[in-house]
Amino acid sequence: MDKLIYLDNAATTAVKPEVFEEMKPYFLETYSNPSSVYAFAQKSRRVVEDARTSIAGMLGAKAGEIYFTGGGSESDNWALKGCAQALEVKGRHIITSAIEHHAVLHTCQYLEKHGYEVTYLGVDENGMIRTEELEAAIRPDTVLISIMFANNEIGTIEPVREIGAIAKKHGVLFHTDAVQAFGHVPVNVDEMNIDLLSASAHKFYGPKGIGFLYIRSGVKPVSLIHGGAQERARRAGTSNVPGIAGMAAAARLAVASMEENGKKMAAVRDHLIGRVLNEIPYARLNGDRTERLPNNANFCFRFIEGESLLIMLDQKGICASSGSACTSGSLDPSHVLLAIGLPHEIAHGSLRLTLSEETTVEDVDYVADQLKIIVERLRSMSPLYEDFVKSGK
Ligand SMILES: *Cc1c(COP(=O)(O)O)cnc(C)c1O
Repeated sequence: MDKLIYLDNAATTAVKPEVFEEMKPYFLETYSNPSSVYAFAQKSRRVVEDARTSIAGMLGAKAGEIYFTGGGSESDNWALKGCAQALEVKGRHIITSAIEHHAVLHTCQYLEKHGYEVTYLGVDENGMIRTEELEAAIRPDTVLISIMFANNEIGTIEPVREIGAIAKKHGVLFHTDAVQAFGHVPVNVDEMNIDLLSASAHKFYGPKGIGFLYIRSGVKPVSLIHGGAQERARRAGTSNVPGIAGMAAAARLAVASMEENGKKMAAVRDHLIGRVLNEIPYARLNGDRTERLPNNANFCFRFIEGESLLIMLDQKGICASSGSACTSGSLDPSHVLLAIGLPHEIAHGSLRLTLSEETTVEDVDYVADQLKIIVERLRSMSPLYEDFVKSGK
């Protein structure tokens, strides 16, 4: 197989050549530590501060509200642990959803072991939280609501604006994990009443290991990383200058072409969804049909194991995923698919295909063709499928 068809862009994306070019001088030439005093350090300090201003502008935020971190997981950990600890005199209750990324869910479980209480809101069959349930879950001791902007497995975009309005009305902080959303769909922290927001460069064609946490001014989560006075003394560690330069370059490109690329990807995605649902029997699309990331398609194929599907697609040069990258390798079905109400046996047969800006109709046609053959082959080996067909149901 010579051609690689990479449809796992929710796991990570390729760094764009222009982004890489922007990063290069900060490895090879301007390698100074931005915290140093000499003029040579000023050059790296400038790129870090320009990046901060530029990213803030894309969110409707102020430069001083952007804190660079080591990526989405760190940002989520900081928002949750930092706010929980900072506000423990007010209360120890947090509200989140059952479909969050593990960076949020496992952090909540950690907090539960340390004396905090967490409410995990369920979702409807499309993966949408119910805002009435959110409002009803708020208690006098609730200090934080953390609901993701868009889901990494099924692509559903949550009603962030309404969530922000509810949080504000009740005087509770609102954090959103926008790792799948920032650079893909419009985000504005003021219009949406977001107090904290996590993002990660490698999900929008930037480098891995760099991200940011937006923290509304006046909000003071306790620090996780202690040491030097970087990031206004709230996140220690020598600044990742090439990473920051790359993230800002990637964000500028992503935001500038967001509308155009979004439309293009949604058209290719809808072509793929149409072919799969029309040509493969007993296939279902997971996630909301319209409130959905433009590059996400997630299916369940009855009588099929997601893992076998992935292996056979891999043999045809197709990179896809079943559940999320963090859970693949384990036999547990995805917590997101269980939360939308799918039974275990159906949740096991899931496939996530996430497109990039470069994915063409030809690419997804090839994938649909291969998928048809593979699903048929796997089902022909399944006694359950044979019984099902015989029973004529
Ligand atoms: C990828 C991802 C993360 C983790 O980000 P990293 O930068 O890989 O640590 C968190 N949340 C969501 C929704 C993600 O998709």
